[in-house]
Amino acid sequence: MSVRFRSILNDSPEVGFREALMRGLAPDGALYVPNHIPKLPPEVLQHLSSFDLHSLSEQICSLFIDEIPSQKLGPLLQKAWNFPIPLVQLDENMYLLELFHGPTLAFKDVGARFMAHMMSAFLEQEEKDVTIVVATSGDTGSAVAHGFHNVPRIRVVVLYPSGKISRLQEQQMTTLGGNIVAVEVNGTFDDCQRMVKRALADEHLARQCNLTTANSINVGRLIPQVCYYVWGVAQLLKLDDRSSYSPTFVVPSGNFGNLTAGFYAKWMGTPIRTFVAATNANDVVPEYLTTGTFHPRVSVRTISNAMDVGDPSNLDRIQFLTGNDVDALRSHLQSLRISDEDTMEEIRYTEAEHAYVLDPHTAVGVRAARDLIGRKLIPSPVIVTSTAHHGKFPEVVSEALGKTYPVPAPLQKALQQPKQSIKIEPEFEVLQSLLSR
Ligand SMILES: *Cc1c(COP(=O)(O)O)cnc(C)c1O
Repeated sequence: MSVRFRSILNDSPEVGFREALMRGLAPDGALYVPNHIPKLPPEVLQHLSSFDLHSLSEQICSLFIDEIPSQKLGPLLQKAWNFPIPLVQLDENMYLLELFHGPTLAFKDVGARFMAHMMSAFLEQEEKDVTIVVATSGDTGSAVAHGFHNVPRIRVVVLYPSGKISRLQEQQMTTLGGNIVAVEVNGTFDDCQRMVKRALADEHLARQCNLTTANSINVGRLIPQVCYYVWGVAQLLKLDDRSSYSPTFVVPSGNFGNLTAGFYAKWMGTPIRTFVAATNANDVVPEYLTTGTFHPRVSVRTISNAMDVGDPSNLDRIQFLTGNDVDALRSHLQSLRISDEDTMEEIRYTEAEHAYVLDPHTAVGVRAARDLIGRKLIPSPVIVTSTAHHGKFPEVVSEALGKTYPVPAPLQKALQQPKQSIKIEPEFEVLQSLLSR
């Protein structure tokens, strides 16, 4: 039985992957989740170490997506992921799954590029064009812009708050040109988000320009992330072919999309022992596991700012999977909060011990892993999902280590190119006329 996608609230009809991807949210306003988690076929599980990234991912995706024939899925995945996802060993017990080799040097490339190529394939079938409109406070915008750059039948309009994102982030979004339109809003991130929501809710406008969005609540970003968990285990087996290997995954978490994908991988039958969600000072999930009550809060600023989320939306999906039972959740998940000071110290320690430079997000994960291994609270081997390249965070890294590193080539290229943006006031009518052009 192939997977259908249902709304968590269950007030909307079940749909296939294509519609869930194109809609983003169900009509009742809730998140889409798979109506069941398919099992990996035994012949895949028994020969995990014989697959490469793309052939393994083709097997996984074909269980969730039946609207694209599997012989077309393979080439699509190769185009989307034209970069490696290597597993590197840090020490005897710990491995890093490097998810940051895509064009913007962060793991969001994995989901964004997959979505872009899937959407394009569906639009080709329908001979339709769409406009994707997104608001960004920095990182999501660049991953989406790069993911969809030069993808046929898609125009991307990214709104960002003028003067409120880093120069690196701005250059990554505003130098692409072509089908990417960067809109610099004279206002805040909340202004940007409000305008985008209003555009999506404006029936006339949405129909006129086939508007959709590509933010992280889209289930189309989770399915591709399931693949790299299975791929991480496959690589561990390749390095040391003990068929009994069942690693613990430590996941630096903010909106909990990455961790949700890990849970799906485990539910599919991937040998994974348990999970750790490592957070920064935005610790609503560690608190929830300790106290049993969930209190969303306004986020606070930290040095791992892509994880500054006070009300993680994907927690609903994890809760749904574990029957909204905190004890059931505890049997699969531990969660630890890591302070900025400890994050800095981990960047120093790992560089001194292993000559490896961590970005602040991955450092949160590595620190949590080291702490829990030291206290014998998690079994090894441990795989930490490494979510960004340190070159994206030069200020934090140079403060921690007292030295600077060359800017990675893709970022250097963006820094050298001329910025192209459209400056607008935070008024819906301005966005409206810009979109209908
Ligand atoms: C978005 C992001 C995270 C958090 O991932 P979630 O899926 O939101 O939990 C962690 N690290 C980096 C570098 C990110 O960009």
